[in-house]
Amino acid sequence: MSQWAKLVETENYGRTVHVAKRNKDMKLLFCKHCEDIVKLSYATRYCQCGATGGHYKVDGLNAVYYGPAIPLGFANLSFRKALRSQPEFGKGTDYKAFVIPKVCPTLELVDVLDYIEVYEEDPREGGIEEMMERAAVDSNSKKTKIKNVFKNED
Ligand SMILES: [Zn+2]
Repeated sequence: MSQWAKLVETENYGRTVHVAKRNKDMKLLFCKHCEDIVKLSYATRYCQCGATGGHYKVDGLNAVYYGPAIPLGFANLSFRKALRSQPEFGKGTDYKAFVIPKVCPTLELVDVLDYIEVYEEDPREGGIEEMMERAAVDSNSKKTKIKNVFKNED
């Protein structure tokens, strides 16, 4: 079984895309220091002041964070529906968001000194196209590295 979250086919603005399946609700961190809000991802993301940060574990469901943050959730279905029904004028479209309880089985608060940063995004995060773009960028950077090695030998 793959350590990564399952890849699922979904429709995004009329286009079929492949995304990593995770918990139905999007998790975000609200920093009590700078009041920034950041969406959690597979790689560590930080608030503007850096006092808080966190990431999703590879299962795409459980998350780890540190700092004076209050975790927030966007109810995914409600949020997607509101995005699709953005009005032209007038009152905006409501969607369901909530403050995640202090004790939540899928969110682990750790001391900043115990927090281990994650630099690698799940390559499937942005769908197939982004994955291919990444692969192209990766192979280019490898070529550059090889050239640099030769330069150093001169
Ligand atoms: Zn902050």
